Amino acid sequence: NSASASPMARQADIPGVAAIIAVASGKGGVGKSTTALNLALGLRDLGLRVGLLDADIYGPSIPRLTGIREKPQLTDDKKIVPIGRFGLAIMSVGFLIEEESAMIWRGPMVASAIRQMLRDVAWGQLDVLVVDMPPGTGDAQLTLAQNVPLKGAVIISTPQDLSLIDARRGLAMFRKVNVPVFGIIENMSFFQCPHCGGRSDIFGHGGARHEAERLGVPFLGEIPLHMSIRETSDSGYPVVESQPEGPHAAIYRAIAETIR
Ligand code: ADP
Repeated sequence: NSASASPMARQADIPGVAAIIAVASGKGGVGKSTTALNLALGLRDLGLRVGLLDADIYGPSIPRLTGIREKPQLTDDKKIVPIGRFGLAIMSVGFLIEEESAMIWRGPMVASAIRQMLRDVAWGQLDVLVVDMPPGTGDAQLTLAQNVPLKGAVIISTPQDLSLIDARRGLAMFRKVNVPVFGIIENMSFFQCPHCGGRSDIFGHGGARHEAERLGVPFLGEIPLHMSIRETSDSGYPVVESQPEGPHAAIYRAIAETIR
C-alpha cells in the first residue's frame, strides 16, 4: 500500500483500501452524487476494484441512483457489509437513517458518523474508495477532509457564477488541510437536446474552465445537461452502466482515467 508510505499519509489508513478520493461541491443540486457514481463506474471500467461511500448526510441519494432498497447485513464481528451493485461495494448513510432525519445532523455528528462508516464497514480489498461528500464547505466537510486519509478531491461545479464561488471555497478548504485537488469538473456544462443533439449554452459556457485556470487547478472535463443522464440516474441505472457505449459513459471514463 503506497499510501501508507507517502509523506501525505496522515490519519490511519483503512485496511484493504488503497486510495480514497472525495467528490465534493460547494452547494447541493449541482450533480455531485450523479457524478460520483458515474466516476466510480468509470474507475470500475478501468479494471479497478471500487467502493462508493455516500456520505451526503443531508440528502443521501445513492440508494435512489442505484435502485438499492435492501439494508446491509452485519458480519460476525459487527461490521457493516457494503451492498454489491454494478460491481461496486456501496455504503450509504441512507441505508441507516431516514432521509428526513438526515437534515438535523450537526457538524460533529456528521464527522463522527462518516468516520464510523469508513472504519466500521467491511470494505474488503479496494483499489479506490470514492466518497460522495456532503455539499458545502462548513465544519462538517472540513473535519471530514481532515480526518479521512484522502488521496485527492474532485470538485463539481455548474457554469453559474454562484456555483463557481462555492467551488472556489471548496478548493480553499482542501488546500487548507493539504488535500491535493485533482481538479474541477463542470457538470450541466451546456444543454444537449435529446431530439436534435443541438447544444445550448444555457448558463454561459466555460466558466469552470476559466475558474480552474485562474485558480491553478486542472480542468477535468465538461458533462452536458442531458435527459439521458437524468433519466438513467433517477431510474437506478446510471448512464455508465446502462449506456456503456454512449458518449456520456466515455466522458466519465476519460475523467476516471485522469484521477485513477
Ligand atoms: P447533488 O448530489 O449535487 O445534490 P444530484 O447528483 O442528486 O446532485 O443531481 C441532482 C439532479 O440533477 C438529479 O435529478 C440528477 O439526475 C440530475 N443531474 C445531475 N447531473 C446531470 C446531467 N449532467 N444531466 C442531466 N441531469 C443531471
